[in-house]
Amino acid sequence: MPMNNLPLITWTNKGLYCAAGDFYIDPHRAVDVAIITHAHSDHARRGSKKYISVDSGVELLKTRLGNKIQVESYKYGEVFYFGKVKVSLHSAGHILGSAQVRVEHDGEVWVASGDYKRDHDPSCDPFENVLCDTFITEATFGTPKFVWTKNLNHGAMIHEWWCENEKKGVNSILFGYSLGKAQRILAELSPFAHKPVLIHSTIQELTECYRRQNRDMARTKVLGEKIKELILDQKLEGELLLAPPSILTENWIHLAGTYQTAFASGWMQNSNWNRYDRGFVMSDHADWNDLNQTIKESGARKVFVQHRNGALVRHLKKQGLEAYPIDHLNIENYLPKPGENLVLI
Ligand SMILES: [Zn+2]
Ligand SMILES: [Zn+2]
Repeated sequence: MPMNNLPLITWTNKGLYCAAGDFYIDPHRAVDVAIITHAHSDHARRGSKKYISVDSGVELLKTRLGNKIQVESYKYGEVFYFGKVKVSLHSAGHILGSAQVRVEHDGEVWVASGDYKRDHDPSCDPFENVLCDTFITEATFGTPKFVWTKNLNHGAMIHEWWCENEKKGVNSILFGYSLGKAQRILAELSPFAHKPVLIHSTIQELTECYRRQNRDMARTKVLGEKIKELILDQKLEGELLLAPPSILTENWIHLAGTYQTAFASGWMQNSNWNRYDRGFVMSDHADWNDLNQTIKESGARKVFVQHRNGALVRHLKKQGLEAYPIDHLNIENYLPKPGENLVLI
């Protein structure tokens, strides 16, 4: 249904849609062609006929959505076409295989960022700045209170915490989401870890995907195997356990004896960590400053923000930019009203 009065990308009930090329970006529902920015579950959903991904992200996508999905993959920067619409994927620095989507048609360039960050992360390619006329940006941390110190040596900090606990015979349980954060922690720990990190089974398969993409990960052992040894009378003491937060509800947790907990997340900013003994401010998203820097460096005249809070939109408007919440791209705003004619191209 391409119409020449539509913006190049619109916001529909299935997500971001390019009518001129008839494809979706991170659709919320099953569609024919889905360009996927990365394998997190709020971006990669089941049921689409064809998926398009960066090559280094294909295995993660299949691990998440099943081996039978049809995936077409491209290298970062490689150009492909949907009719006259030129598309390429560019590193978003968020997790392995994460991409910003560059869409060009009739001399106009749009970029949909997906999730991104600019902070150093040894588990994935660094963020690439992509010039465009219109930028659709995520803004998970789109308020000025989220600003964090960059280029911290997270690996050394986590290792130090682990060693302090180990000296006291205490285990260290570090919570991090199973895709992305867990592997970033393992990559950052790789030069420091003095023994295998015990990882929860939900992290295992995804970590192997990273290893097969030649990402250096600290040595690991699946936690369940260690628990079995423990039942055979070995001690779980001074270990580092890496797991999703749900682990505390598992029935073996009493075997972990005394332990300290920590959470690694951007949400740890502003001392959001009183439920844990320690918080590592470690985000896979851009903070307020990096969002602003990225928008500036994109050269975009128009910015659409994917965030419920309007702080970033208001801030950008003050800077003289044309900025809107993503709803402004609602396809209904551009469809002809009753009585008007559809203009097909
Ligand atoms: Zn994500
Ligand atoms: Zn996301």
